[in-house]
Amino acid sequence: MRCPYCNDEDTQVKDSRPTEDNSVIRRRRSCIQCAARFTTFERVQLRDLMVKKRDGKKVEFDRDKLARSIMVSFRKRPFEDERI
Ligand SMILES: [Zn+2]
Repeated sequence: MRCPYCNDEDTQVKDSRPTEDNSVIRRRRSCIQCAARFTTFERVQLRDLMVKKRDGKKVEFDRDKLARSIMVSFRKRPFEDERI
């Protein structure tokens, strides 16, 4: 992993341990080049579906948000919720 301080690619894992509930792995790393120390977290990502917004920002896909917007667009149209 790249060092966030000097951007060197050569960093070493010094310590690796799971968090209390075992859902995250915490790693202490150190940079061989500048000796800076930093921590990274490894966690499972089940939903990696992202939505690119008009301004270029990416946000996580939100099914409920999409459903609400579709309902709004049908508000004054003759369709029953069931059919939408
Ligand atoms: Zn460094």
